[in-house]
Amino acid sequence: MQVLWAPWRMAYIEGPKRDAGCLFCNATGGDARDRLLLGTTASSLVMLNRFPYQNGHLMVAPRHHTASLGELAAAEHADLAETLRRAVGSLAEALHPEGFNLGMNLGACAGAGVADHVHWHIVPRWAGDTNFMPVVAEVKVMPQHLLDTYERLRGAFGWLRVPT
Ligand SMILES: [Zn+2]
Repeated sequence: MQVLWAPWRMAYIEGPKRDAGCLFCNATGGDARDRLLLGTTASSLVMLNRFPYQNGHLMVAPRHHTASLGELAAAEHADLAETLRRAVGSLAEALHPEGFNLGMNLGACAGAGVADHVHWHIVPRWAGDTNFMPVVAEVKVMPQHLLDTYERLRGAFGWLRVPT
């Protein structure tokens, strides 16, 4: 898999929706672990992707529901960028990847599965993992694996608030 952000893959990864409404707006309500929410900052949230490319695939989104980066206030975008920066650091600490892919798909035609709420993808990478990824891609959902990853990351993401 040479093109990591292939649109057809994103449609598979982010859909179909489990809940009515927006995945990101819903993430801050209900049980955080059930929703794979690692936590929130003043105006951003960090969650695991339920259909990961790779172990530790996270999404960082503003809490403000918008399809447009331009509609974020400067302070909201600054918080988003800082949250992205810190999330990469915490993933490095927890999983020791050898690299990362960071990506944002704006608009359905660009591959956004949730096109109406902007979000960053963070995918940790290890040398040689491309041979493993197509295999992972065929595995639909591994709930226990996801929860194991969630628990493992919680410690490193202690700087986030977890809604109760
Ligand atoms: Zn939303």
